[in-house]
Amino acid sequence: MQVIVIGATHAGVAAIKTVLKYNPTAEVTVIERHAEVSFVAGGVPLYLEGGISSLNQLMYTSVADLTALGAKMLMQHDAIRIDYDRQEVLVQNLQSDEILSLHYDKIILATGSAVVVPSMRGVDAQRVMMVKDYQTTMQVVKATKANERITIIGGGYVGTELAAALAASGHKVTLLQRNSHLLPLYYDTDIALEVQNLLVANGVDIHLNAAVTGFKNGVDLQVCTADHEYPSDLALICTGFVPVSNLVAGHVDLDRRGAVVTNDYGQSSDPNIYAAGDVRAAHSTVLGKEIYLPLASNAVRQGQLAGLNVAGRHIRDRGSQGSTASSFFGHIFASTGLTQEEAERYGLDVRATTYTDWCRMPSIQPNGKITVRLVFATATHRILGGQLQSMQEDIVQATNALSVAMENKNTLEDLAAVDMLFHPEYNRPLNYLNAAAQQAIDEVGLLDDPE
Ligand SMILES: Cc1cc2nc3c(=O)[nH]c(=O)nc-3n(C[C@H](O)[C@H](O)[C@H](O)COP(=O)(O)OP(=O)(O)OC[C@H]3O[C@@H](n4cnc5c(N)ncnc54)[C@H](O)[C@@H]3O)c2cc1C
Repeated sequence: MQVIVIGATHAGVAAIKTVLKYNPTAEVTVIERHAEVSFVAGGVPLYLEGGISSLNQLMYTSVADLTALGAKMLMQHDAIRIDYDRQEVLVQNLQSDEILSLHYDKIILATGSAVVVPSMRGVDAQRVMMVKDYQTTMQVVKATKANERITIIGGGYVGTELAAALAASGHKVTLLQRNSHLLPLYYDTDIALEVQNLLVANGVDIHLNAAVTGFKNGVDLQVCTADHEYPSDLALICTGFVPVSNLVAGHVDLDRRGAVVTNDYGQSSDPNIYAAGDVRAAHSTVLGKEIYLPLASNAVRQGQLAGLNVAGRHIRDRGSQGSTASSFFGHIFASTGLTQEEAERYGLDVRATTYTDWCRMPSIQPNGKITVRLVFATATHRILGGQLQSMQEDIVQATNALSVAMENKNTLEDLAAVDMLFHPEYNRPLNYLNAAAQQAIDEVGLLDDPE
């Protein structure tokens, strides 16, 4: 079987490894536009604030590793067209311009996403940049070394983490956010306000409800909103991602954003074409429908799923809760599932509770407070979302535990009673997730189990 994988960052790499693991006789050819594979863009803030010394530390595999596994790696090659009748991909060697035609039995499309670039005056100025892959990151790193005043456009997880990292490395950072609070897809207002306070306390100048309308490229770069101009040396666009699905547009089913719609097995409406990662829509387990969740964690699991099914196994997509975490000045924030505000935008009848307490006994760790906000369905108590934060305690795996609970459609009553380990060095006899669920039950009443 001839398998062509297009794109080799997270989804593509996972797909390559999985096909070769489960079907070692498959001939896997990989077409990748860039010279490197598996760049972890999520580590860029860590690099900017000096937590690691080289961007090369942000790659977890190499062309040589994948070649050793048996893949034929066509690096710096672009897939430019697919002939669906002849089952051929037209490929351009970007160094020699040579054009090749490669036969496929199955394609795994892992072409990912691009940063949303709003169409506005001056957006194409050289000083307006973005972080997406190794190449754009190198350009931004060079520019940030030479410039002090940086304006960030967009207060999602990329914009806020870059703002914190650049402020920590001594830059004067302005953050412009169109919405009324930061991180609206991940946190409700109160928790987002805590992120905002941390950023402000560390020197980030934040403006909310500030929609950028364009750029003026003079001595200074002026970043313009309806009523203000922000003088800058550099602007970073962090306004989200759009799927890169142009190769298959007009042939397979796409959603309104242009993300490839797949069945439960990662297969598009053309049975020979599978899709994985940011190019594909994800199944939200809490909403029970397909939405766009461009995350590396989803890309890897969807790459594995496509790889398994192309290799001849029969494995269903478990979907996603859209779990994420961000670190700001050593303070961890994490979220999974829906916020209350987002759930209400989807028309769901939900309630939420915010629980704050010590993770361990205060006599053992006096500074170790954690906050857990649980969002749940009013009628059924099914848990639909969780937001956690702590200054001292690692709340990452607790967020993952909540993600598992949501995937399994657990209720507050399930979470209040589930067995969680106790050891005084780590927690208290009643774990804080049990206690947060119990607090919610105290507020809304206990539901009996069905007969
Ligand atoms: C600054 C930043 C921070 C982030 N932080 C996190 C985080 O903390 N956690 C998290 O889960 N996610 C994070 N993300 C999101 C994460 O990086 C993406 O979800 C992930 O990279 C998607 O992987 P992918 O393989 O689907 O696509 P991409 O990473 O977009 O890779 C697609 C690949 O396909 C190649 N390609 C595209 N078209 C062609 C073609 N025609 N021919 C050949 N090759 C092609 C591209 O060159 C690229 O290598 C972050 C993103 C950014 C930018």
